[in-house]
Amino acid sequence: MPFYLVLIALVTVYILKKIMTMNKVILLNKRPHGKPTLSDFKITSEEIPAAKDGEILLKTAYVSVDPYLRGRMNDAKSYVPPFELNKPIQSGIIAEVTDSKHADFKKGDFVSGNLDWKEYQTSSGKYLQKVNGSDAKLSSYLGILGMTGLTAYLGLTEIGMPKEGETIVVSGAGGAVGTVVGQLGKLLGCKVIGITGSDEKVGLLTSTFKFDHAINYKTTKDLKEAVKSACPKGVDIYFDNVGGEISDAVLANINKYARLPVCGAISLYNETKVALGPRLQPLLLTKSATMRGFIVGDFAEKFPAATKQLTAWLRDKKLTFTETVVEGFDNIPQAFLDLFEGKNKGKMIVKI
Ligand code: NDP
Repeated sequence: MPFYLVLIALVTVYILKKIMTMNKVILLNKRPHGKPTLSDFKITSEEIPAAKDGEILLKTAYVSVDPYLRGRMNDAKSYVPPFELNKPIQSGIIAEVTDSKHADFKKGDFVSGNLDWKEYQTSSGKYLQKVNGSDAKLSSYLGILGMTGLTAYLGLTEIGMPKEGETIVVSGAGGAVGTVVGQLGKLLGCKVIGITGSDEKVGLLTSTFKFDHAINYKTTKDLKEAVKSACPKGVDIYFDNVGGEISDAVLANINKYARLPVCGAISLYNETKVALGPRLQPLLLTKSATMRGFIVGDFAEKFPAATKQLTAWLRDKKLTFTETVVEGFDNIPQAFLDLFEGKNKGKMIVKI
């Protein structure tokens, strides 16, 4: 064979080998100002790492994108440290063990944990939990059987403390946490009203998720009146996922001894100035109401029992869930941005 053909063959094999061992990574390129954009992220590549003794090699299968990641993109002190510039973003991930030099894991196992936005990565296995796709859909460990399910269950039961016959309003109702809160409210014998951002989600809440009533906050002119007419006996529990003007409208309708779990404030995450609203002290005082913010980790010791309960209800079909699944590693940033446009129904998941 002529020398130049051998050379071309060798170069081709080298390039193919390089491409096949390339590992895509998503870094925080710059800190967003206001609404995040694609340019805040950077997709780069590195070599696929090899597992050393005591390590496993993981191949990412499903990535959770969550509103709270927005807070970690700011350079501000919070309950978790901010993401560093030019370092990988992290979130809840389900990954497959593709190589193991660790006694507790074998090839083919699936694990769940807070991992880097990388196609492949090594891990010591610390803080990873094995998950089993035959017990429940693998991606459900990022949603109803994972962090968002626990947030809904523990926020509602520990702070909301629902009693049969009470009225619950939940904002962000068509999302991962909201759809679970509403179903739990119904299971516990309450009347449940959801507030969400499209007529399609309104339909989903009242049909699939059995909410008593749902309100589209984007098309309702007087939200305060809409909540009042949906809750003739007033609001006993307001599970707040969004904050801002939606919450102002609900709070105007609370009953004496109302409980107000503050789970999230997505309507304010991209604000660049401090947003002003009604002063709440007189309302909380005269209604003897309890407003309490929480981070799901506050209830970490209750995770095993809560997971067991959620798993049982899911198995017995007393709970259900829906997902919006985006495909492809490169689409993780866009899926994250789409949360702020309400493009997800239920849990937003990226399948790799
Ligand atoms: P979701 O699945 O609910 O997705 C976000 C949803 O928020 C969107 O689909 C959109 O729905 C709604 N939304 C976006 N922008 C606005 C806006 N400006 N005003 C009102 N609604 C808006 O996310 P999660 O279920 O994962 O999270 C829900 C909330 O709970 C978030 O605020 C999150 O930060 C918080 N959270 C808190 C935890 C804790 O430990 N305290 C843990 C997990 C989540 P729509 O079409 O209705 O506008």
